[in-house]
Amino acid sequence: MHDGGERRECVIALDVGGTSMKGALLDREMKPLGRLRRATPGRQGPRAVVAEISAAVCALAEQAASRGMTVRRAGVVVPGIVDEVAERAVYSANIGWSNLPLGAMLEETTGLPVTLGQDVRAGGAAECSLGAAGEARDVLFMPIDTGISAAVFCDGRPVRGLGYAGELGHVVIDPDGELCACGARGCLETLASAAAIAAAYSIRSGRMVDGAADVAALLADGDPDALAIWDRAVEALAAALAIFTTLFAPELIVLGGGLAQADGLLLNPLRVRLAERLTFQRLPELVRGKLGDEAGCLGAGLIAWRTAGSAAVPSPAAQAQRTQSL
Ligand SMILES: [Zn+2]
Repeated sequence: MHDGGERRECVIALDVGGTSMKGALLDREMKPLGRLRRATPGRQGPRAVVAEISAAVCALAEQAASRGMTVRRAGVVVPGIVDEVAERAVYSANIGWSNLPLGAMLEETTGLPVTLGQDVRAGGAAECSLGAAGEARDVLFMPIDTGISAAVFCDGRPVRGLGYAGELGHVVIDPDGELCACGARGCLETLASAAAIAAAYSIRSGRMVDGAADVAALLADGDPDALAIWDRAVEALAAALAIFTTLFAPELIVLGGGLAQADGLLLNPLRVRLAERLTFQRLPELVRGKLGDEAGCLGAGLIAWRTAGSAAVPSPAAQAQRTQSL
């Protein structure tokens, strides 16, 4: 294909979250050319969510057509357990679908070739290719938000386990701890997710907070309850990361999600606590993700380009545009 034709090509990238969808048209340099934001109608059930995903992909296809661009493929990433090989959305507690052949369904409703992915593995792949991971090939990407999830990359490849791999948030840290949404007790998520930190602070102090960011602000002010809750969360994270490090020896751990924004408050003590727990193991570098909440959408674009048979060629010049709010 001649150069002029290649410049007119793009992929559709869509990151479907529990409450909102974030979409973009991305060229081969991973430069965003068009953007879209919609609510996810999660409360209306899986059927409504599938219809809205389909409508969002079609709206992006129309944007591409109006710009005279050819859509090579759509990449759609969704939360929960996703079997990328079978293109099935196996399970999502947020959205409520179960073993849905979502890739095939979207191809039928949009008339476009669609690659289905999982949001965290896609976000991790984006941090590996475009963000914080640099040259590292053994990487753990761990977003901490309402829940805690993770994506594992060994020698540059994602570990999938038919979609079940990476559930670090459900490693049991305190067997006598609180009941987790998954049914077990004392999972990492019950101690160190943003939601758990906010809830634990409110219970301990008797004062309501809007979220973990409020607890971080109180911590910076020296609030003793905030200090106790934060300390417990950091200790739980260090325990889980020490187990992971012993098994997988990552070079790099990339923390994503809202809680990682509390850079000095979280990463610094976590580095110290993790190092204290390790003896012979290789100490991984611990950094904050560079792509923020754009990671999933960029990852959707990467998997679309890859399955279109032509790898994206990210350009540094497109970096500034990528990290603007999509
Ligand atoms: Zn759990």
